[in-house]
Amino acid sequence: MSTLLRTVYDRHLDFLTLRAIEGWPMWSRVLLAILLVDFLGWFHHLVRHKVTMLWHFHALHHSQREMNLFTDVRVHPIDRIASQTIQFVPLFMVHASFPVITGWVLFHQVWTKLCHANLRLSFGPLRYVLVTPQSHRVHHSCAVQHADKNFGVMFSIWDRLLGTYYEQRDEYPECGVDDPGFPMEYARTPGALVRSTWAQLVYPFLQLRRSLVPSR
Ligand SMILES: [Zn+2]
Ligand SMILES: [Zn+2]
Repeated sequence: MSTLLRTVYDRHLDFLTLRAIEGWPMWSRVLLAILLVDFLGWFHHLVRHKVTMLWHFHALHHSQREMNLFTDVRVHPIDRIASQTIQFVPLFMVHASFPVITGWVLFHQVWTKLCHANLRLSFGPLRYVLVTPQSHRVHHSCAVQHADKNFGVMFSIWDRLLGTYYEQRDEYPECGVDDPGFPMEYARTPGALVRSTWAQLVYPFLQLRRSLVPSR
């Protein structure tokens, strides 16, 4: 995916490249890119919650009631394409090398997996800077007081600076989405799993159609 995005970037978005910092050391350019990636991730995540049309796609990720090591890959393909694009573009903007991009992607994936792994960890004082399994569990909560909190991807600083951080560090709430019509995968047979997976992929489009076509 990164190779495809790089090709698209080189052909159509090269004007975004930050030429003024080309003389900076690689580590400082990468640090800048990581902060930019993370801020864009925070902002894009907030938009996916606030814009109803986008929330229908993001709801699949939030629908899991028992978070686990694989919740991070329970993402609608359209939600995935949008977030991946946002993740890579800033790295291209600072001309990060392929090994740096690969290293960042791997680290990012491990961290995201950790934060979804249903662990009772809040990382002590590191929580002031980093997203933790506890803070992201709050983000997945279906409790009213946790709604629209903790949008951070890697760093918690954006939520703290912009007023969306939920301060309590010892809460591990129930998770899920507030839609009894969401097609959860209750049955375990292969056929039922295929049907529920298909229904989950189609779910956002049906929700969009419902919102565009008034019911009679
Ligand atoms: Zn979310
Ligand atoms: Zn999540």
